[in-house]
Amino acid sequence: MTLPHPTTLTDQFGRSIEYLRISITDRCNFRCQYCMPLEGLPWLPKDEILRYEEIAEIVRQLAPLGLRRLRLTGGEPTIRPQLASLVRMLRDIPGVEDIALSTNGVKLPAMAEELRDAGLDRINISADSLRADRVVAIARRDLDFDLVRSATAAERAGIAPIKINVVVMRGVNDDEVGDFAALTRDHPWHVRFIELMPVGELRDLTWEHVVPSDEVLARVRALGELLPDAGPALGNGPAVYWRYAGAPGSIGVITPMTHTYCERCNRVRLTADGRLRTCLFGDHEVMLRDALRRGEPLEPLFRKALAEKPKAHDLLQMKIGGLRALSQVGG
Ligand code: SAM
Ligand code: SF4
Repeated sequence: MTLPHPTTLTDQFGRSIEYLRISITDRCNFRCQYCMPLEGLPWLPKDEILRYEEIAEIVRQLAPLGLRRLRLTGGEPTIRPQLASLVRMLRDIPGVEDIALSTNGVKLPAMAEELRDAGLDRINISADSLRADRVVAIARRDLDFDLVRSATAAERAGIAPIKINVVVMRGVNDDEVGDFAALTRDHPWHVRFIELMPVGELRDLTWEHVVPSDEVLARVRALGELLPDAGPALGNGPAVYWRYAGAPGSIGVITPMTHTYCERCNRVRLTADGRLRTCLFGDHEVMLRDALRRGEPLEPLFRKALAEKPKAHDLLQMKIGGLRALSQVGG
């Protein structure tokens, strides 16, 4: 007997899974200190990387099961040629309600309109400094990135909401917390401060480098009264939001190191070489690409992966060692 498909996917702990983060490349034009070594990483061979048609086919098979929201990430997704054509393919898949992009923003001034026309809804821009010299020091590449220019290009193209992700590092950029927060008084942008995590280049991270989000919020609060906020509609994920009275934008904190939000986890990840990862941290993966290339249905593999999705990760205790860089797993 075949049972009808439920339209909501749940994992073994009853969490509803509706959000897929798709890494489309492991490569990047930046070399952020906390993410990638200067010399790069052992890149995936081209034939192991999912073609756009293959990514679309995976989504086509999973959307009827309850997957409704997608995020394209990497590595740096904007360096893969013809990104807009992938957005267009995904937009045409019935059941896909929302398509977002995570980017370092370098190419946005040139690409924002094309991406919007292709059907991109939302964007997250990573930016760890508002000072040109610091951007270069942190990203270790001089590509003339300017957050305000990139976010303005996205806003003019009609992409909304615009979220700005700032990884706060003690002694590196924590003196700019107030400047980032001030952006939300002038722009409808949502600035989210993220705690530095011990992954990739930072396996030896200690608590001295992490600025706990409670400390970040105290600094933001010292500059004006903060009101609790619902944050941008959709995709609230792990962030908790606040707003200065009357400000068009909001301020969020993402706290993988000091608070856990695993009980609200609604996502799984697809790596650039076609593995489904059910937790950002940890090694549980199910290979979808090989089954896809053999013409086999993906639903059984997907359900198996969800049945094994871990309950929680161990970052709170700094227990995790040897984790891969977020660029390799689609952070
Ligand atoms: N290249 C795109 C970008 O930078 O937005 C997408 C991929 S990047 C791996 C996704 C996010 O992971 C970025 O916001 C980045 O700041 C964050 N990230 C990478 N390594 C991190 C670390 N060690 N701790 C905290 N966040 C990290
Ligand atoms: Fe590239 Fe994003 Fe990693 Fe920076 S955080 S090196 S932009 S993938």
